Amino acid sequence: MGSSNKKGKQIMTFFDKLVKEALKSCKWRGHKMLALEPLLNRIGGFARCKKCEKEVMIILKPLPNEIEISGEAVALNCERKNHVNT
Ligand SMILES: [Zn+2]
Repeated sequence: MGSSNKKGKQIMTFFDKLVKEALKSCKWRGHKMLALEPLLNRIGGFARCKKCEKEVMIILKPLPNEIEISGEAVALNCERKNHVNT
């Protein structure tokens, strides 16, 4: 993350806001999120919970059928992996 590109910085600022929002929701659900990893083909990232391995995905420019923040980690509470119930 050490971009000196101005455009990139602007994107990161907005993206950063999304990430913060997403991580806040995850935390509220009781998750302990690991470091955000970048998505390969688009501007976005995902993070996984250390405890239950649920994920959150953040997409900067979601498609019409997508949302900016998605994933089980924002939808479901954290629970230990040995009693996952789907
Ligand atoms: Zn969790």
